[in-house]
Amino acid sequence: MIQLYIPLNFLGVLYREIKQSLTDLDKMFTLLERPREVADAPDAPALQVTGGAVRFENVHFAYDPARPVLQGVSFEIPPGKKLAVVGPSGAGKSTLSRLLFRFYDVGSGRITIDGQDIRSVSQHSLRSSLGIVPQDAVLFNDTLAYNIGYAREGATLAQIEAAAQAAQLHGFVASTPQGYETRVGERGLKLSGGEKQRVAIARTLLKDPPILIFDEATSALDSHNERAIQAQLDAVGRNKTVLVIAHRLSTVVDADEILVLEHGRVVERGRHAELLAAEGAYARMWALQASEGRG
Ligand code: ADP
Ligand code: MG
Repeated sequence: MIQLYIPLNFLGVLYREIKQSLTDLDKMFTLLERPREVADAPDAPALQVTGGAVRFENVHFAYDPARPVLQGVSFEIPPGKKLAVVGPSGAGKSTLSRLLFRFYDVGSGRITIDGQDIRSVSQHSLRSSLGIVPQDAVLFNDTLAYNIGYAREGATLAQIEAAAQAAQLHGFVASTPQGYETRVGERGLKLSGGEKQRVAIARTLLKDPPILIFDEATSALDSHNERAIQAQLDAVGRNKTVLVIAHRLSTVVDADEILVLEHGRVVERGRHAELLAAEGAYARMWALQASEGRG
């Protein structure tokens, strides 16, 4: 299925897995030299980001035509605002970010950024404007410096170090045998879930895109790490347009809008206090997490 034109033995994971976990992929597509599933329109112009407004308009989508995944999802994230999406596993939350990156095209409806349909602009410009801290960051079998720096071409070691400092990764790097030259991944040093996520945060800081997506990983982290990472994500997202896919409701309390997604449909929307007062699906999820202990 995948044709490799260059040796990719440094890539310890399958393309499909990478795509699912949605790391910055533009460079990997280039390396793989493979036809993309979605093609640029001829002479597609670059996306012009003015404020970074993201709109989903009545989006329908299915990976497999027999099984609809998104069924008429609409929302808008105004420039600099934070929208949170919550809901059970399998509801279609991560699919929203895959569509925003245009790894797949919508079945019907449209997605725009600052009024431009994302199908009409070059994929390179689209992906340059988006940053993601994914659920499970993918590491290359390469050095820490490479893993942090690859999201930004020509990043200097000083810039990589500054990003690592801001992501609270520098102390960890300094403790490894060869610092930034330490090899990680399948055939190198194994990183914990929290360390990998800090690598992803450092990458995103270095890339500094106007629109951010956080697909929050929590299962891999203990509550101490979780709080530390949350504080960093908040700092990274300041003054940017942010789409948060939240597993823990404690992280969405301050969102400008919260959507509850179930079976690919928005069943509730509003701010935290409004949704609690509505005593619906969100209020039930909140009560459940409160009883489990919010960490
Ligand atoms: P969530 O993030 O809310 O847990 P996802 O958006 O990842 O859910 O997935 C929504 C649905 O789409 C799930 O039923 C999932 O099994 C299915 N799905 C996800 N990725 C694929 C894929 N590449 N091919 C087919 N089905 C998929
Ligand atoms: Mg998901």
